[in-house]
Amino acid sequence: MTHPTVSLIEGDGIGPEITAATVRAIAAAGGELVWERVDAGAGAVARHGDPLPAATLASIARTRLALKAPLATPTGGGYRSVNVTLRQHFDLYANVRPARTMAGVPSRYTGIDLVIVRENTEDLYAGIEHYIDPRRTAAESIAIITRFGSERVIVYAFEYARRHGRRKVTLVHKANILKMSNGLFLDTGREVAKRYPDIEFDDMIVDATAMKLVIAPERFDVIVTMNLFGDILSDLAAGLIGGLGVAPAANIGDGPSAPGEPAGCAMFEAVHGTAPDIAGKGIANPTGLMLSAALLLDHVEQRDAAARLRAGIAAALASQDTRTGDLGGRANTEQFSDAVIRAMPAARP
Ligand code: NAD
Repeated sequence: MTHPTVSLIEGDGIGPEITAATVRAIAAAGGELVWERVDAGAGAVARHGDPLPAATLASIARTRLALKAPLATPTGGGYRSVNVTLRQHFDLYANVRPARTMAGVPSRYTGIDLVIVRENTEDLYAGIEHYIDPRRTAAESIAIITRFGSERVIVYAFEYARRHGRRKVTLVHKANILKMSNGLFLDTGREVAKRYPDIEFDDMIVDATAMKLVIAPERFDVIVTMNLFGDILSDLAAGLIGGLGVAPAANIGDGPSAPGEPAGCAMFEAVHGTAPDIAGKGIANPTGLMLSAALLLDHVEQRDAAARLRAGIAAALASQDTRTGDLGGRANTEQFSDAVIRAMPAARP
């Protein structure tokens, strides 16, 4: 069987360090991937005069899979955020952010295991806004919600629940006030839910959800919501498990983004930034990117390798000797990665 080819973006700042650690850990876990290294971010401007070179877009257009370390958007020069451009170019409409507490990662909570599926292309982020008067004393931003955009992300959430043995999908909205736009999202959810009788479905107003996530996070399993609420709630969920530093993410699209391209596209990334303050010191924590790599392995149906990688990460995080300094540990990036690999259960023959 041919192994999937993945476009690999090392990124800026701590990116190359955590990418090297992650590639090593994937190989040790038995992940069978072929890497196609491509450039993006501030470093790509220095090397190619472009934060998103055409060769990078062409690579992802071909491989339909990317693993991406954090990128710095160069200031000045009028560059658009590469992250936003990639999301739009490949129509990556579902942002998937699992939040699971892990021993060794300081958090106020234990036992959290939920997933937020955020619609990534519509809502207030459609970028339609203007000043109403010439003196700029009032401005208007327009939220676009379509049945098409709602249906595909809600279907994705149900399919995700089914594939990962999850029991419930909660749709989060504000349809009591935004009766048309949010009402459309809710109505679409109720229709889609009828096609998945094996998955429990409920809905909740966003303000109540914010409170319930803090008081009783265990009542949630998969949450599906629109772009703005998803943006806020996914960081709230990361806060429940100890912050953005250990949070993974997947961005999923159906593609093709241009005629003649194959269907489907998925990009996996750590949620934290480039950590310029510690770049090059060999002390960065690669957990966020490694957990994103586990999502990638799940996505390409290499579930045993994903499970081994997660088990290694969990074991290395559990001891102060092997977790990194940002989590109060004593290890550097290499020592943490060694511990991840040492702790992996043996591969099945
Ligand atoms: P940041 O996440 O880079 O850093 C915040 C703090 O967390 C810093 O003290 C940093 O040292 C620490 N930190 C972050 N990740 C860490 C890790 N893996 N191991 C150990 N410590 C870690 O956020 P910022 O300082 O606001 O942003 C820095 C740059 O990153 C900016 O240029 C920003 O645009 C970019 N950024 C990129 C992405 C992305 O590509 N997805 C996301 C967020 C920020």
